[in-house]
Amino acid sequence: MTYFLRGRVLSRKWLRSPPWGSILRRAEYGMSVLVRGGSGRLCAAARRVIPCLWSGKCLSSGREPAENQVTPMLRHLVYKIKATGPITVAEYMKEVLTNPAKGYYVHRDMLGEKGDFITSPEISQIFGELLGIWFISEWMATGKNAAFQLVELGPGKGTLAGDILRVFSQLGSVLKNCDISIHMVEVSEKLSEIQALTLTEEKIPLERNAGSSVYMKGVTKSGIPISWYRDLHDVPKGYSFYLAHEFFDVLPVHKFQKTPQGWREVFIDIDPQVSDKLRFVLAPCVTPAEVFIQRDEIRDHVEVCPEAGVIIQELSQRIALTGGAALIADYGHDGTKTDTFRGFCGHKLHDVLTAPGTADLTADVDFSYLRRMAEGQVASLGPIKQQTFLKNMGIDVRLKVLLDKSDEPARQQLLQEYDMLMNPKKMGERFNFFALLPHQRLHGRSHPMNTCQSKPSVSPVAGFGELAWR
Ligand code: SAH
Repeated sequence: MTYFLRGRVLSRKWLRSPPWGSILRRAEYGMSVLVRGGSGRLCAAARRVIPCLWSGKCLSSGREPAENQVTPMLRHLVYKIKATGPITVAEYMKEVLTNPAKGYYVHRDMLGEKGDFITSPEISQIFGELLGIWFISEWMATGKNAAFQLVELGPGKGTLAGDILRVFSQLGSVLKNCDISIHMVEVSEKLSEIQALTLTEEKIPLERNAGSSVYMKGVTKSGIPISWYRDLHDVPKGYSFYLAHEFFDVLPVHKFQKTPQGWREVFIDIDPQVSDKLRFVLAPCVTPAEVFIQRDEIRDHVEVCPEAGVIIQELSQRIALTGGAALIADYGHDGTKTDTFRGFCGHKLHDVLTAPGTADLTADVDFSYLRRMAEGQVASLGPIKQQTFLKNMGIDVRLKVLLDKSDEPARQQLLQEYDMLMNPKKMGERFNFFALLPHQRLHGRSHPMNTCQSKPSVSPVAGFGELAWR
């Protein structure tokens, strides 16, 4: 398989030795003047009047993409920057990825061989099957609630949900009295269409009622009600299992560089030397997003994702209130990495500022930040490596069952897929699993369903501890 994984550790020179040094050197001139527009925004006028305050650098990339391709998104961003001044990296990511008219995610299918990147559920059915078992295991461990919602954030093509639902059907005897519903949080019209086809085998029309927060509604092949929303806030509250696979890495990040004058945010501006070209610049003064940087931060370059914090807080409140769990899988780090913002197009690295709207943009997830955002409300587990999690979930046993049932070419395929998921140099160590659970799930206070038990039993959380055969 020659697919490029978004989670791959990059060996490009500028990622090992980030380019911020030269920005920093130039930024040192003129740092004494702080300029702010109304409502805290850095204003365009300031950039024009004292251009030396904005110091910039163009990044090089692994491959030279369609040189200076003036995409509709680039045109839109150039107008925007001319009108209101340089934009934060977070604003750039949000516009490029999810702008309702021109956003990268909104109108295309970017997953798979013909797309820009491939993900674990697209590689092997075993991945989704083991996650399906994880949810059933948590449902059983917490008292077999009479109903649960499975809520997926950023469901891609619906492949992962499809594999999970197949497990739910196969374990129908265990789940037979449980009222299950599926809730998809997806901003992409194109992908939600594909998800509906995968899961219901139907093209579902968009809801016409403008007041409704559900924009599509149907029934899965196995007869489970399924609904689509644009925002997690719109999903009904209730006992739920939340799933986010390669979702948090596409949320917008703010980037900061430490300078002798303190933290300065990285912005995106128009290159004054070349028309229709963007470049990174460093803000001349403190910007509002600086509040997200930890006081005791020791790195000299950081990426922070406030949107991820908001979503984690919402998930935590919901889980604390109504029970359930969240399983988050992504590539990332535990508060150690610095510059991870990168682009992918056609399974290759892509300069993040070139031909915006034609390539995926992503940044590693900072799990230490997610953990902090959940603190107080719920307990968290992980991050642990994908290789460890899948092993603990019994991937070897499942592989053996499939190998025993397969002929030679299919066996080779299964082994290659396993290698892709588990090999530390491929996805095994780059991807992490992280879970949010109600405090009582880990600390042994009895669940409301189990109050009749004299001594509450706390079963280990599957995947996060070694698999024990009984
Ligand atoms: N989970 C899938 C797809 C990952 S790609 C897989 O692993 O195969 C990221 C997904 O998140 C896409 O479905 C994209 O449309 C969706 N997405 C991106 N930004 C989003 C946002 N702000 N809200 C909801 N979905 C979003």
